[in-house]
Amino acid sequence: MRYNAFNIFKEGLTGNKGWRPAWREPEPKPEYDMIIIGGGGHGLATAYYLAKNHGLKNIAVLEKGHIGSGNIGRNTTIVRANYFLPGNSEFYSHSLKLWETLETELNYNVMHSQRGVINLFHSDGQRDTFARRGNMMINQGDDAELLTKEAVREELPYLDFDNGRFPIYGGLFHKRGGTARHDAVAWGYARAADQLGVDLIQKCEVTGIDVLGGVVKGVQTSRGPIRAKKVGIVVAGRSSQVAEMAGLKVPIESHVLQAFVTEGLKPAIDHVVTFGMGHFYISQSDKGGLVFGGDLDSYASYAQRGNLPMMEHVMEAGMALMPAIGKAKVLRSWGGIVDMTPDGSFIIDKTEIENLYMDCGWCYGGFKAVPASGWCMAHLMAEDQPHEVAKRHTFERFKTGCGIMDEEGTGSQHNLH
Ligand SMILES: Cc1cc2nc3c(=O)[nH]c(=O)nc-3n(C[C@H](O)[C@H](O)[C@H](O)COP(=O)(O)OP(=O)(O)OC[C@H]3O[C@@H](n4cnc5c(N)ncnc54)[C@H](O)[C@@H]3O)c2cc1C
Repeated sequence: MRYNAFNIFKEGLTGNKGWRPAWREPEPKPEYDMIIIGGGGHGLATAYYLAKNHGLKNIAVLEKGHIGSGNIGRNTTIVRANYFLPGNSEFYSHSLKLWETLETELNYNVMHSQRGVINLFHSDGQRDTFARRGNMMINQGDDAELLTKEAVREELPYLDFDNGRFPIYGGLFHKRGGTARHDAVAWGYARAADQLGVDLIQKCEVTGIDVLGGVVKGVQTSRGPIRAKKVGIVVAGRSSQVAEMAGLKVPIESHVLQAFVTEGLKPAIDHVVTFGMGHFYISQSDKGGLVFGGDLDSYASYAQRGNLPMMEHVMEAGMALMPAIGKAKVLRSWGGIVDMTPDGSFIIDKTEIENLYMDCGWCYGGFKAVPASGWCMAHLMAEDQPHEVAKRHTFERFKTGCGIMDEEGTGSQHNLH
């Protein structure tokens, strides 16, 4: 059933009794051509583009919980294409273009809002760095504008511009950046994939990966064994654990990233704003809550909740940047398990096992990547060749040290990326 104004009107007049479930609840079949492990944003998008772009039919997504229960439903929803390094630039640029037509593509309102992202800078050196980044973005075909302090003040009058330690010098404005409703993205891809015949199997945990003679043959699950010609591991924070089921070691550490939301307030912040002197970023949701986050908790963990020291750090950064935030009551906080690589950039690659593929290492920035990640992982699985915009993102760079994409310049310490 398509979502459109006519159907909303018709259902409104007839008691909303005609809506059908957004997707089926099929029983797993004994065999699929393609199995995707993980029903997060990336797994669902991969399944959708396998069916849509490559015409494949016999596909299943196996999800141990329910659709949207992982990081796809836990993130702070920022979508942007403001990367600096070749490899990341073209990939995120491709992703943002897919975002711009996603609602029509999926026939689903993902509430993509290009409200603009402003990265603040607080010193001359930082201004130079952002000017370079902005030039790279423009060279890539994306938008960037360097704002003076006064221009930032016009956009964001509520900031503390003359904070003694962190005075604001200006900002880099990326107008096509913004936010989207996170779980709607999962639901939109799930519904669209289901309509193309993909089996979405919830409450189906993969407990083992069957490999014979170096070739993947299928998976063991909490709902029995399932054979498969090809398997993609797309499980974000659980990447190293699931890879281990096939005897693989991957360069991923799992860390917790927390997020916070306040009570609903009248519209106050109409951009995404990032602080340049601490890890703090903020936007306002359509319900009115201020949504914000900061650094990773500083040690590896599989807990989906964070710790008080990082909470204090984030609140302090928020107070330094916009003291008015102190009046808002924090309603909720939560954590998600993020899959950190040593250089902070992702991996979409074949593994040493034939027909077993991985899409992982999204760190704290994989929400904006969902469309392009699904697009490129589907391309890799269907064609056995990397997609042009993801070809640098292989495991090889961690074996050889060549081609590392370290946007932050913080080396191999996962929690600093
Ligand atoms: C607090 C927070 C804020 C963030 N903010 C942003 C942001 O503003 N912008 C941005 O771009 N990114 C952000 N991110 C990162 C982004 O959310 C992730 O990189 C991205 O969602 C990860 O991909 P995914 O959606 O596929 O992951 P997930 O939704 O976690 O999907 C993985 C799925 O695999 C399933 N799974 C795991 N093991 C198994 C198994 N054995 N069998 C079957 N299924 C299994 C899990 O249940 C899960 O549903 C943030 C992350 C967090 C935690």
